Amino acid sequence: MHHIEQVYINGEFVTPHGTERFDLYNPATARVIGQVRLADAVDGERAIAAARAAFPAWSKTTKQVRIAALQRMHAAVAARHDDLLAAVVEEYGAPASRSAWMASYPAEVIAQAIAALEAFEFTTVAGAATVEMTPLGVAGLITPWNSDAGFICGKLAAALAAGCTAVIKPSEMSALQTQIVTEALHAADLPPGVFNIVTGRGDTVGETISRHPHVAKISFTGSTRTGKAILRNAAENFTRVTLELGGKSPTLILEDADIRQAVPLAIQAGLMNSGQACVAGTRILVPQSRKAEFEQALAQAIAVVKSGDPRDAKTVVGPMVSERQWQRVQGYIQKGLAEGARMLAGGVGRPEGTRDGWFVRPTLFTDVHNQMAIAREEIFGPVLCVIAYRDEAEAIAIANDTDYGLSALVLGGDSGRARRVAQQIQAGRVLVNTLTHEPKAPFGGFKHSGVGREMGAWNISAFMEPKSILG
Ligand code: NAD
Repeated sequence: MHHIEQVYINGEFVTPHGTERFDLYNPATARVIGQVRLADAVDGERAIAAARAAFPAWSKTTKQVRIAALQRMHAAVAARHDDLLAAVVEEYGAPASRSAWMASYPAEVIAQAIAALEAFEFTTVAGAATVEMTPLGVAGLITPWNSDAGFICGKLAAALAAGCTAVIKPSEMSALQTQIVTEALHAADLPPGVFNIVTGRGDTVGETISRHPHVAKISFTGSTRTGKAILRNAAENFTRVTLELGGKSPTLILEDADIRQAVPLAIQAGLMNSGQACVAGTRILVPQSRKAEFEQALAQAIAVVKSGDPRDAKTVVGPMVSERQWQRVQGYIQKGLAEGARMLAGGVGRPEGTRDGWFVRPTLFTDVHNQMAIAREEIFGPVLCVIAYRDEAEAIAIANDTDYGLSALVLGGDSGRARRVAQQIQAGRVLVNTLTHEPKAPFGGFKHSGVGREMGAWNISAFMEPKSILG
């Protein structure tokens, strides 16, 4: 059993004021594997005060000092790779296809921030003015459970690069992963208070951070619903926000697509991170003229996807993170059937050969129209919809007929045509015939998928305010 009894404030592991114990589960067995003592609003206040006290000195550090600090963080996080790998399997149920990335990405994203900081121009000239990029102050970093260490490290590295200090509120469901990252960051020997980590509930610690007048910036990754609540709270103090929210991303298969290439990419895009990915391509748009052919190939491909024990190297889809998430996925599969969609693969219940864990059957619906709940709402599980379109214009219209706009995938034989289609899709990122992510490019959403961009100089700038000095 794991017992996490402390939070991290002002450079020290301390016993929180909060006394609530929260159970941690192994989603592959549905058994309790530990407990975390949660921070409360008082702890949130203490963490903000520590970050505020550390801000004047940190905001004046040179680029070299910040690069050196980030390099120490990078080395310390990289050194905990194996512990992180074990934790993302035990606490999150990430299968091999995901866990290797989840264990190495936290260090990688710090390395990317170092490269961006090295190239970052803090002072530029605009006509007669000198423009100085000025750090905002204390940053509140609020993160979800589906890539705990990666989000903590990415947001923190950018905030510190900008000269901000930080209070981090990770998901209460990821306390094991957070503990490893916190120990690593502590070993990086940054000045006390520069970063603080308080695991607690969203409606206590999260609210304290997002409403606090001494917090100048919130960088949040999570659901669109929580993003809206944060945006409302932020209005009170004009707190700056970066919001990375949900998605219902289209995979648009053009008429000239090679079925052998398109189908594996479409399935992979839809099922990544066991379907618990904000960018998952959950709406697969196929031409009416080739509908039957694609239905058959997609159904065959999803039927052989192994959903089960994350420690089995062949597993592609691991368990859902919690019972609540499992119920949510079951509910949407039932809803799809009730709405009149036709199921080509999967269904309610657990996959064969699994028992206690929160395992789900990768599910494929067809005859879906874009107004059905399963086509409009983010399910956050491996449930994919096939939607037929008549021509390219209708395909683009369906792709864009969504509240979301985080990511999209266009698959086609003529890459010039596929790129022209990509240009018409309202999403922060459109992949054309590839699933390869580009960490140097800005990442974020249109519409209800968020506000602002992360990665590279975009993320560093998001923690700063330009100041023009004239005369
Ligand atoms: P969530 O919104 O429930 O929680 C995210 C974080 O916000 C948690 O730390 C939670 O405790 C905190 N929180 C909850 N209520 C709060 C409040 N009122 N004030 C402040 N903080 C509060 O999301 P989740 O279920 O943990 O994660 C899944 C969601 O995250 C999905 O919708 C997914 O699409 C989204 N997501 C987006 C991205 C992206 O980059 N766009 C990446 C990953 C996940």
